[in-house]
Amino acid sequence: MKKTNIEGMVYMCLTQERKKEIEQKANSFRQEADTEIDVILLAVSKGFMVMSANFPEGNADGGIIIKKEKGTITKQILVEDNLDSYQQRFIIAHELGHYALHYDQARISEKVTFLHMDTHENKTEAEQEADFFAACVLMPAQHFRELFEDLSSRIGDHKVIINILSQIFRVPIPAVMRRVSEVYLLEAKLNEQR
Ligand SMILES: [Zn+2]
Repeated sequence: MKKTNIEGMVYMCLTQERKKEIEQKANSFRQEADTEIDVILLAVSKGFMVMSANFPEGNADGGIIIKKEKGTITKQILVEDNLDSYQQRFIIAHELGHYALHYDQARISEKVTFLHMDTHENKTEAEQEADFFAACVLMPAQHFRELFEDLSSRIGDHKVIINILSQIFRVPIPAVMRRVSEVYLLEAKLNEQR
């Protein structure tokens, strides 16, 4: 099984205002706030074909291609085949983040393709934005917080709680850990401003 560090980073570059904006975009992008979001169906509903790929080791673990040929726009998301399903879900949601946040349809032409491959070696601001978008799509804040608090009232062991949340939301454990701190950090900041 290949390793990816997609879920291992923090959002150093992003301001609270930008995060709030991304969260709102993610909420309207995903529409319903179910726990069990099918991220492939979500991508398909936005006109994407989702395909698995075998990237050379360490080269990439996902990508997005939007191109225009003979007047028709085709949209594809590629995801490394040799990753577990939780990682793949996160990567697909991350690519949708690039689509929702960084893609400009007006700039696409027969000559200009929107192409982005994710190596996840350097985490630029755009990468952090796409990761944050993915977390918002896969773990909507309010629902996430309710479940976290419910579990915390019944289970003492933090590790066990994180594990359960990882299984409920079907995302990698580090992504859950980061979401816990994000959701509470955001809340603390909002309270400060009140
Ligand atoms: Zn990316």
